[in-house]
Amino acid sequence: MDLGINGKTAIVCGASKGLGRACAEALALEGVSVTICARTEEAISAAAREIEGLSGQTVTAVACDIATEAGRAAVLATCPDPDILVNNAGGPPPGDFRDWDRDDWVKALDANMLAAIFMIKSTLDGMVERGFGRIVNITSGAVKAPIGILGLSNGARAGLTGFVAGIARDKRTAGSNVTINNLLPGAFATDRLIGMFDEAARARRVAAIPAQRFGIPAEFGQLCAYLCSAQAGYITGQNVLIDGGAYPGTL
Ligand code: NAD
Repeated sequence: MDLGINGKTAIVCGASKGLGRACAEALALEGVSVTICARTEEAISAAAREIEGLSGQTVTAVACDIATEAGRAAVLATCPDPDILVNNAGGPPPGDFRDWDRDDWVKALDANMLAAIFMIKSTLDGMVERGFGRIVNITSGAVKAPIGILGLSNGARAGLTGFVAGIARDKRTAGSNVTINNLLPGAFATDRLIGMFDEAARARRVAAIPAQRFGIPAEFGQLCAYLCSAQAGYITGQNVLIDGGAYPGTL
């Protein structure tokens, strides 16, 4: 299926590896000209060259921290008017909320809530004026089924989710073919997830997933590309879970 986004431009944040990288790859394979960012120059440049080799598309690398104003300004200077925006950053560390001070919370809010909100603020009106826009925020399955030790993530992502639920339904936005959705990963085999478990813990985690495996990042990227497609213009304000059946609820 042709997703109808050939020739569009995209910013994909947090994209040197893992889920963000998979989204950038899937978009580039659809003919989208992608600007990707991550904090390390070497890693993001290598990712850009690899995605270019795979897709034949121009991929621009920006080394920056998307959780900072300077980092966001650097990405937006490179791609000021994206048609597509994928917000992503590394998740906060697990722990006991009794051990977290204000700085821990501010870091989590900066990376997993405010970075996405400020990127949306900088790009949304241009999308509305041009009559096309697709925004996807990578959040977490924990938004629907919170995990106690991931309190920083639960709190910051709940804030972003509430914000998105409101602005996605603004008639000027939705009525201008601009959609904003959150994509909620369950357990995906990325460096972040693999680094969290030893072999025994990994086996237990897989056994608890109805699909009996971890997700493959490309599966996530392809769903993201669909949400960014021309055909997905009637899907907005949604929290789309991709978790191999792990979430146990009916809705
Ligand atoms: P990852 O660590 O494999 O990759 C994260 C990417 O973002 C890397 O390219 C990293 O360099 C970049 N990055 C991190 N912080 C950044 C920042 N401040 N500025 C710019 N770039 C930054 O992680 P992942 O597994 O791909 O996860 C992506 C997001 O999805 C995270 O927020 C994670 O918590 C969440 N998530 C992942 C899973 C999973 O199973 N992998 C499950 C639920 C939620």
